[in-house]
Amino acid sequence: MTGQTGIIGNSRNIELIKALANGKSFGNAFLFLGKKGSGRHLLASHLMASLLCEKSNHCGECRACRLAQKGIHPDIILLTPGENRKNVSVEDVREFVKEAFMKTVEGKKKFLVINDVDKLNVQSQNALLLVLEEPPEQTVFVLFAENKNRVLQTVLSRSTVINTDIIPIKDIEEYLIEKGTEPKKALYAARLSEGSVGKALELCEGERDESQISEALRSFALKSPFLAYEKFFSLSLSSRDDIMGLAKGILGAARDLLVYKATGKIEKTEFFSDEALIIKASSVLSEEGLIKLITVADETVSFAEQNCNVGALSANLFIKGWECFNG
Ligand SMILES: [Zn+2]
Repeated sequence: MTGQTGIIGNSRNIELIKALANGKSFGNAFLFLGKKGSGRHLLASHLMASLLCEKSNHCGECRACRLAQKGIHPDIILLTPGENRKNVSVEDVREFVKEAFMKTVEGKKKFLVINDVDKLNVQSQNALLLVLEEPPEQTVFVLFAENKNRVLQTVLSRSTVINTDIIPIKDIEEYLIEKGTEPKKALYAARLSEGSVGKALELCEGERDESQISEALRSFALKSPFLAYEKFFSLSLSSRDDIMGLAKGILGAARDLLVYKATGKIEKTEFFSDEALIIKASSVLSEEGLIKLITVADETVSFAEQNCNVGALSANLFIKGWECFNG
C-alpha cells in the first residue's frame, strides 16, 4: 500500500505524477492543495525525485533520489522568511524568484518550493506571478496551500493543481497497525484523524485512547464537583490539540452512547470498540445529558479551532460538561 514512497492512498495522484514524469512536457508550476498531514509533502517529494532521478521514475537509489527524498538536493530551494523575520515578506518573494533564472547545480531541473502560498499577501503572490507568467524552462515551482480561495486566480490558472485525497479510515488504520501501533489505538486515531495521516500519527503519540475518553465522560456523572474535577483533570490537557482531541472523542463517544441507548446494539457504534466501556458509561449517563453534551463538545472543538486559551477551554469543557448531567 505504501511502497517506497511512503504515500498512503492518493493512487490517482501517483498515476498522475508517473504520467508527468514520463511525458515530455509539463507545466512550470504545481500546486499541492490539501490539508496538512494529507500527504502533500510526500507527493511533492515523489514528484521532484521522479523528475530529478538519474535512472527512471524515482528509483530511490541514485544520488538525486536520495538527496531529493531527504529534502537536501541542491536544486530544491525553499522560500523562507528573511533574517529576523517571522513571516515571508514581499521582498523575500522578490529575492527568492530571482533563483528561477540561476543555472541548476547538478540536476536537470530546479525546484522552487513555497509552503503556504495561500498565506502570502496579494503583493507577494503578484511578485510570484511575474515569474510564473514567463518561467525559465529549467525551473519548476512547487506550491502548497490549504485554502484554494486564498490563492490568486491568476496563480491557480498557471499551476497544475494536485488535490491530495482524504484518506479512508480503513487505510489509515491498516497503515498505523503496519507501523506497529496497537490495533485499538490505531482504530481510535484513524477515526479521529479526519482523513489525515499526519493527524493520526500525532494522535498515536498522544496518551489518549478510548478508555480515557470514557473516564472523562464518566467524570461528568459524578455528583461531587470536586471528585469530578479531580478525575477530569487527571487527563493531561496541556495543549490545544489535547483538548481538541478530547472534545472530538467526547463528541464521537456521546453519539455512540445515544445510538446504544436507542438500539441496545454495540455493533452500531462507530467510536467505541470496547463493549465493556460502552455499558459502563451508558449506565451512568442520561440520554438528556448526552444530547446537551454533544453541543458542548461541538462548541469546544470550534473554540479550539479559533485559538482560544488552553486553560479557559479545558475549564469551560469541564464545567459545561458536568452541568449537562448535574444541572
Ligand atoms: Zn533515482
